[in-house]
Parts: sequence; structure tokens; C-alpha cells
Amino acid sequence: MIDITLPDGAVKKVPEGTTPMEVAKSISEGLARNVISAKFNGTTVETVTPLKESGTLTLYTWKDDEGKKTFWHSTSHVVAQALEELYPGIKLTIGPAIENGFYYDVDFGDQTISEKDFPKIEKKALEIARGKHDYKMRSVSKAEALSYYKEQGNEYKVELIENLDDGIITFCDHSTFTDLCRGGHIPNTGIIKAIKLLSVAGAYWRGDENNTQLTRVYGISFPKQKELTEYLHLLEEAKKRDHRKLGKELELFTFSQKVGQGLPLWLPNGAALRERLEQFLKKAQKKAGYEMVVTPHIGQKELYVTSGHYAKYGEDSFQPIHTPKEDEEFLLKPMNCPHHCEIYNSKPFSYKDLPKRYAEFGTVYRYEQSGELHGLTRVRGFTQDDAHIFCTTEQLNDEFKNVIDLTLFVLNSLGFEDFTAQVSVRDLENPEKYIGDTKDWEKAEQAIINAAEEKGLNYVVESGEAAFYGPKLDFMIKDALGRNWQLGTIQVDYNLPKRFDLTYKGSDNELHRPVMIHRAPFGSMERFVALLLEHTGGNFPLWLIPTQAIVLPVSEKHEKYAEKVLNSLENHEIRALIDNRNETVGKKIREAELKKIPFMIIVGEQEEESESISVRRHGGEDLGSLSVDTFSDLVTTEINSTLKSF
Ligand SMILES: [Zn+2]
Ligand SMILES: [Zn+2]
Repeated sequence: MIDITLPDGAVKKVPEGTTPMEVAKSISEGLARNVISAKFNGTTVETVTPLKESGTLTLYTWKDDEGKKTFWHSTSHVVAQALEELYPGIKLTIGPAIENGFYYDVDFGDQTISEKDFPKIEKKALEIARGKHDYKMRSVSKAEALSYYKEQGNEYKVELIENLDDGIITFCDHSTFTDLCRGGHIPNTGIIKAIKLLSVAGAYWRGDENNTQLTRVYGISFPKQKELTEYLHLLEEAKKRDHRKLGKELELFTFSQKVGQGLPLWLPNGAALRERLEQFLKKAQKKAGYEMVVTPHIGQKELYVTSGHYAKYGEDSFQPIHTPKEDEEFLLKPMNCPHHCEIYNSKPFSYKDLPKRYAEFGTVYRYEQSGELHGLTRVRGFTQDDAHIFCTTEQLNDEFKNVIDLTLFVLNSLGFEDFTAQVSVRDLENPEKYIGDTKDWEKAEQAIINAAEEKGLNYVVESGEAAFYGPKLDFMIKDALGRNWQLGTIQVDYNLPKRFDLTYKGSDNELHRPVMIHRAPFGSMERFVALLLEHTGGNFPLWLIPTQAIVLPVSEKHEKYAEKVLNSLENHEIRALIDNRNETVGKKIREAELKKIPFMIIVGEQEEESESISVRRHGGEDLGSLSVDTFSDLVTTEINSTLKSF
């Protein structure tokens, strides 16, 4: 008999050779029906793998990320089989699961495929899936594996096998199809009820551009047709909400090939939006005891040698700038922290002065490969809402609570309600990976966990996820389409204070080392605006949106009155525009709708006579005829309902 420990701590005594599926059955038939993958002692196993020793078993269903991964990888085998049957002679390479679905890299030789071939491939793959074929793992010797693929003339698989040790090589069979695979499959193909190929793209073998270019076929699959339909709907929505598309439509930002790739240019609307976000945070930060600082966009190479960034990232950064006469070397600032350390170093502090909290909207530059650039989410120049807190270890708990409060305030004011937190701590089994005193680490980790607890955050603790220089807390935000964004990292740092020899005088009159916290609730203005665009679809909260209302005179006759209304709105601090082009009111409304302006103020004969305005909300709701005062109250109430004071 062996002992199988389940995640809830329960221990089951079962005969040696029992499979994960049999364990599931012994728990409940319902669970067994849903189990699609398993992990034993931290290693992915098949649900039919006989367990030969005692250990910890986790069973996964479609609801788990691990389950989905197994499901999608298993589907990649089925799609590979369909491709092989439809395009004889192709060479298969690798087919892993990815965050949403899977891909298979294929050398199609002289043949090509395009999106219009997808339906027939999907049909074939589904036919195969319906055969309910079991996935069967089989150990093969290295010689056997090599000869199998050499016979097929598949040099890619041969290369993969050559890099594997004899004794660990396995093939996976299902139906008439065989693939080199280390395992992790659903019980049988019949569970796959819906398969959709999403795109094809070029991909170099092993990601190396000197190698053959393969065709990467992306796809996704589901255990229910309905789930595929929902997913495709989400994809459509995501396309509509793509921040690059909305950014253009709302005239927020642009890119110029002349200025350079990955360097966003903020248009007046976007700049106004950024300005408002910055003011919003600055105001809250001031209340939270931060002091603003300003630092230059470049720094001497020596600064980054001291900070350690040069050794770590120097090669992959923008290369140094040289002064023409003195031959000094400067780097574009990749982060603000070293500058802030030197601000701290500009005068001596005693324990009574701490914590010091220096904040800066600091623009930094990081080299990204051109292929990696993406809208505002991957850029080469961006502005962080950065701050560094220098404090004692004893103050960490309060400082964390303070930053959590600030981050929650930011998230709530911007309409993010669905989020979790992750506390990343050391891997206790590999203490040599971390710098700093063990006692300090313990205190810091406990301070973070206590802060998360005291603030009522929904959090998980991940061991081994801490940086080598300190533990951290991250927020994971779920956007309106259910996608996760990591945001608002609060990072403890024992490394930079040491490298910059930061000190403070303690109550014992001795010099001590402060702890540093890096934090940025938005992350960067660029990425945050992208997230905000995709989350709201461009319908920003009323307090933030660049134009809150637009005045639409029904004809030229009412232009004077419209100007008067505009004036009055401005006096009520409502950000409004006027559209007095010689166009029909219908057309003006349609355009204002596209620009996602929350309120359309229509003025004509009746309104002018009664000194009122007719208000239409974005989306079509008619608020009827109001006085400017009443409208202004309505706007204020709505703003106050989202923008709480800090
Ligand atoms: Zn596989
Ligand atoms: Zn920093």
C-alpha cells in the first residue's frame, strides 16, 4: 500500500499501482468524470499513470489552469494528426499549450496553408477527436526514437531527441498518430468538443532567425461548443476594445516612424488625460506623506555600475551616450531608483526623519526588440508613477499598509473591482539565492503578509517568487473581459541601500541601513492608459474623461445661445466642447457617440426660450430638459460616486 496525500491534507491508503483516475473515482464519480489531468509530487502525470510510491497528488479539471493547459496541449496532438492527414509529407516540430490555447510549429515544405484552410482542418480534427481515442504514453529507447523520425526524414524531432538522455524518452500514441512527447494529456480525445484555429504566423525553428522558418498554427479548444462561442465573442470584444484602435479613434496618442518605434506621442486629448491621472495621484500622494522630486533623463554609466543595473542589463540597453569633449559616458535612465538613492544620500538622516518617501513621474527608456513592441503596453520610453520609500524594517508594515491604501484608492476610483494580490516570498530551500540578512527577510515577509491581512486583501503567498533582493506584493487586476493584468507592485529592496551605502543614525547613535520600497500604483502611464482603454472600452470614468459634454446647436440660429450654455458649463467646471459645424444634429450626435463623450447637450428653439438644455447620455438615454444648474449637480453626484476622497 502507498499513501496518497491530497491538497486538503487528507491521506488515502491505496494499493501500489493505483492511477490518479482511480483515486478520483474513490473520492467521487462526479470528480472522476471531470478530472482531466494530474500532478504527482510536483510532476505532471497522465491520469492513467500507475502511482508507484507515496506522495502528493493534485487532480485538475477544466476549471484549473493546469487542466486547461493539458487539454490544449492534448488538442495540439489531434490538430497535428489532422494536418498530417490533410498535408502528407509535412514535418511536425513542437506543439505546446500557451496562455490561451496552443500552437503547433510545422514545416509545410512546398505546401502552404492560410486561414481559409482552417474550416477543413478543424473539421478533420473534430472527426478524430470524436473517435474517443485514449492517449497512451510509451517509453522508447533513444535509438528507437531516432530511427522512427529519421525514417520520416524529420530532422527537427531528430534534433530534439539528440538532446535528450536515453531512458527518459517517451512517445504519445492516440488513434494512428504518434508524437514525441514528455506527457501530460487528458484521458481521451472524446472530451474535446470544440476546436478553433485562430491564426497562422511564421516562426523560426527554436526561435533562431538563422534557422528554417516554420509555420505556427495557433488554435484553441473547449469541452463544450458553448464555451467556444463565448470565447470567440470575447475575442471580438477585445478587438473592439484594442487600445491601439481606441487610442486612434479618441485621438489620445500616436506613433511616428520618424520619431522612432516604441516612442508614443501623446496628443492633446491624451496629454489632458495623463495630466488628470497624474494630478489625481499627486494629490493622494501628498496626503500620504510623499514628497515630489525631479531627476534627469540620463545618468552617468557609473551610477548604473553602482546600482548593478549595468552588469545585469547593460548589453541589452540603449548604448551609452558620449560627451564630445570630456568623453564622459551617460546612459538613458532605465529606472529612477538609482537617482532617488542619490537624493537620499544628499543629506544625513536620523531615525526620526524616516520614512522618507520620494515620488516622481519619471520617464525611463528601455530597449525592446522591435518585434516585441506593442501599442502602449510594450514601448521603449515610458513614464512611471514611481516612488521610493526609505524606512526602517520596523516601519515596513505601516508603509505597506499605506501603499496598499493608496493602490486600492486608485483602483476603486478607476472602476476596477475584481482583483487579487500575490505576496512573493523566498524559496526557503535555496537561501543562497537571496541577499540580505535572514532576520530582515523574515520580518519583511511577515510585515507584508500582515499588511495584506489587515487590509483585508484577497491574497496568496507564492514561495520562491521573490526577487533576489527582497519580497514583494503584486496586484492582479481582472479587466472587463476577464483578462489578468499585473499592476501596482510593492517591492522591498535590501540591495540598493547597500550598493549606495545609504544610512541613517539610529536612536543608539550608530549608523544603520534603511530598507527601500519601490512602488508604482499605475505601473507606467502608458500601460495603465492601455489597460484603462481596454477595460472601459474608452468610456472612462466621468472625472477622468477629457471631454465630459458637447454642446450641439440644432441650427446656426442657436449658436449664440449654445455659446452661452458652453460658458455656463465651463463656469460649473464641466469640460465641454461645442460642435457648431453646419451639419445635422443627427450627424453630430453620431460623431459624439463615436468619440464616447458622456453627455450631448442639444439646444434649439425650445431650449433657448426656456433657458434650458436637452441632455442625451452616451448610449442614447434621454435625460430630458434640464437647467444647467441641475445638469451640473448631476455631473457632480456622478463624479463623487466613483471618485472618493483619499
Ligand atoms: Zn503530448
Ligand atoms: Zn525603483
